[in-house]
Amino acid sequence: CGIIGVLSNHEAAPILVDALKRLEYRGYDSAGIATVNAGHLERRRAVGKLVNLSDLLVHEPLVGKSGIGHTRWATHGAPTVTNAHPHQAGPVAVVHNGIIENFRELREELAENGVQFVTETDTETVALLTQHFMSKGQSPVNAAFQALDKLRGAFALAFLFDGEDDLIVAARKGSPLAIGHGKGEMFVGSDAIALAPMTNEITYLEEGDRAVVTRTSLQIIDAEGNPVTRAVKTIQIDN
Ligand code: GLU
Repeated sequence: CGIIGVLSNHEAAPILVDALKRLEYRGYDSAGIATVNAGHLERRRAVGKLVNLSDLLVHEPLVGKSGIGHTRWATHGAPTVTNAHPHQAGPVAVVHNGIIENFRELREELAENGVQFVTETDTETVALLTQHFMSKGQSPVNAAFQALDKLRGAFALAFLFDGEDDLIVAARKGSPLAIGHGKGEMFVGSDAIALAPMTNEITYLEEGDRAVVTRTSLQIIDAEGNPVTRAVKTIQIDN
């Protein structure tokens, strides 16, 4: 129900958990984060309140300055650790708000290709599709875009990749998503409130937009597939 992404110059885990706290007001049943550390993608997830995730991170820390995080409001699959986001399939981790309406068809297609499922969620199909396209030699960005081409429904998504500690792919279709501009840092969030401690320089993605985010660049492709420039707004939020 809340999405956060950071390409930071500081440790990502505390920033992600803090931002997820700021998204708690939306409601959730479980939470999780993933980071890339020295090129290696790893994740931690917990059911219930965010303190459960914080506790887990004390015992099993996640290092790395790039990461994504999620608070889940289960729509497909019970609120369990296995069904909590981020969902990982090989070299890609995905956080998702909303519903992938055609996930059953997509699961059938994947199953025909011998792909195994671990969760009951609609979201896992996005990670599996991206992994599938990467295994065919596509770059992370192109693989994520090809996966996005196949999705129907209303969603916000953020992708993080193994071996890529300066890349987040984000997409908005029916569920808001904001990009926050820092100094040599970049952030993704469900809303500007989540990003307020990091920055008040915000670019709002529009319907159908896809974003390729690095610490020093933001490339946006619109619903028609054309590169576009979206305004950077300076917003005021009372903390
Ligand atoms: N449909 C997804 C799930 O059930 C995402 C739900 C959400 O927006 O948190 O896992």
